[in-house]
Amino acid sequence: MPKRRKTFPCGHKGFGQFCHTCAQKTAKLEAQDQARAKQKKQRDDWNATFEADIVDLRGLPRPIVTKARRILDTLQSGADYHQFRGKRLNHDRRWISIPLGHDYRLLCWDGETGIQPHKVMSHEDYNVKKPGT
Ligand SMILES: [Zn+2]
Repeated sequence: MPKRRKTFPCGHKGFGQFCHTCAQKTAKLEAQDQARAKQKKQRDDWNATFEADIVDLRGLPRPIVTKARRILDTLQSGADYHQFRGKRLNHDRRWISIPLGHDYRLLCWDGETGIQPHKVMSHEDYNVKKPGT
């Protein structure tokens, strides 16, 4: 029996038991869905890591987050802030500012319980509204 092109229920024409045009389309869509799901999972996993931070690092660029976490960890283990080029603020010596790259500063409060990381500010914010004032 000679092979005959037939019309599938979807309207495409071709040979075989099923429409290869639609099968390819479905496979492509599935691959896209999987890629999207993977991206979403990576995003969710990344977002979940912020729960464990002692200061809020959400919304910061990834390299800054990574750097901030390394500094926070090291500070928690008793390191001196000078190690990170941290400086006391002139207008209030209880605030310590540690540079995080060029554009961000980690602010720590030197209070009764020792040096406590407080928040990360952009360099801009930090110059406009000085903490503690
Ligand atoms: Zn088809």
